[in-house]
Amino acid sequence: MITKKSIAIPNEISKNFSFFKMLVIYLVICGVGIGVLLASFDWLIRSNNKKLTGDVCSLVTEKMNNSIGRMTGSAENMAALLSAQDHYDLQELYDILSRDSVGSEYVSIGFIDEEGRIYGSPVERNEFEKWGLSDIASLADPVSISAPYRSGKTGQPVFTMFVDYTYGGGRKGYLFLTYPLKEIQNMAYTESLTGDAEIWLMETDSDNIIQCAGPNKYSLGMWDNALTTLRKPINSNYQEDYADWKNKMNAGEDSACVTYKIDSETYTQVYSKINFMHGWCVVVRIPDSALSSAIQQFRTSVFIFMAIFVIATVIMFIGSHRREAEEKKVLENLSIQDPLTSALNRRAFDFTADQYLGYLGKTLKNEAALLFIDIDYFKHVNDRFGHDAGDRILTGFSAALQEIFGETGYISRYGGDEFVVLVRNGDKDRISGQLELLQKKAAEVKPSDDREVCGDFVLTFSCGAAVYPKDADSLKSLEERADNALYIVKENGRNGFGWYRSGQK
Ligand code: GH3
Ligand code: MG
Repeated sequence: MITKKSIAIPNEISKNFSFFKMLVIYLVICGVGIGVLLASFDWLIRSNNKKLTGDVCSLVTEKMNNSIGRMTGSAENMAALLSAQDHYDLQELYDILSRDSVGSEYVSIGFIDEEGRIYGSPVERNEFEKWGLSDIASLADPVSISAPYRSGKTGQPVFTMFVDYTYGGGRKGYLFLTYPLKEIQNMAYTESLTGDAEIWLMETDSDNIIQCAGPNKYSLGMWDNALTTLRKPINSNYQEDYADWKNKMNAGEDSACVTYKIDSETYTQVYSKINFMHGWCVVVRIPDSALSSAIQQFRTSVFIFMAIFVIATVIMFIGSHRREAEEKKVLENLSIQDPLTSALNRRAFDFTADQYLGYLGKTLKNEAALLFIDIDYFKHVNDRFGHDAGDRILTGFSAALQEIFGETGYISRYGGDEFVVLVRNGDKDRISGQLELLQKKAAEVKPSDDREVCGDFVLTFSCGAAVYPKDADSLKSLEERADNALYIVKENGRNGFGWYRSGQK
């Protein structure tokens, strides 16, 4: 069954729907905007971190290359000096030099002659065999450096540098000098990077590393395995990237960068090849939090600001939408209501009643009755009690109508002291009962609270009624029929009601 509300609902739903659609579109646009902004920040942070870590790695590598260059330079000078002296007896030369080596920066010194004989301590000769050092020596052109190994003499990690030189009338041999690994580690160590940056020497074809700088002081100078040094596994998303990075190192590329995550921390890691020290690289690893804490904080602040902005605008939108809807409702009510009695005005009633009768006409479900009601001798009320008292009577009578027909009909003040009710059922007995009740209620409506002023005044009304679709099949003719019935009641002395009878004029 159609009611006043149900006529308005579809409109309201569509308005609300379009508002929420707009809201969702706004939120989606904001979400995409914030996403793009945060992604740009991430991109900026990543590229910035890559560049910074790359720069640090290049600097450390350059420093190491320079330092190794200086070491190899002094070893070459020594070799040139010995070549110039053109010794024949390398054993004698070895005895002198190894005696003099006490207190120097190298751990030991020795020779390899043209036949590959080693002039060194028995321990060193063992190590040559164990670590394949003679093969490294053969790479010297003019210098080569071995991989770090644990010295049998001192128990410390060391590496050996080979320089080719001539002896005994142009015969070719090698001078070798063994240094503590600390020398190289010191070269990589940079005071300004003692915070979160880690610097390793890494073997290209394994995961062996030597820690040169990093937050964990106890592991410095230690042999380690890169994968166990990471302690926690790299997040699975990044394992392929890490493997690619390692493959590039194996393939001999000069330098490469990888970014990976362990737990929630992102690391940028760069390697760079070291000249002379074949098969070894410098690796610098820095956590993003250390490199970009300022920009990260800025990113978080921007995110919080944007989130607050979006929430505030959504609250504002909803607030203003509600206000607008309320204002609209008030305006709508004003345009459909009679300002004195709040009953429907004539225009709104005709529209609503027409809609309802149209609905009834289609479904043929029910009958409806139109009541035409006019207050008796209302002019006298105005004349006797004044216009304001007349208004009070109109308001009180309208309230009585509302009380009795509000649930089952549309009530309208048609004009002056005329009211029309479309009752949404045509049950004559029930309507007669309701009208009798209305007579009682009307009698209680007084022009004043003062009984003396009211005197013997009793409010009565006359009512004519017609039934749809029996008496008329359109609103206009139904009104005419009900008006005719009203006319008859007025003619017959008022204070009563009557149904339209067919043929009645
Ligand atoms: P009848 O029994 O034949 O209906 O006689 P009546 O005096 O009621 O005559 P009628 O219905 O024609 O009178 C309507 C009067 O209602 C005329 C006008 O002065 C008065 N009136 C119209 N609108 C208002 C209003 O808003 N307030 C007040 N107080 N009076 C109004
Ligand atoms: Mg009247």
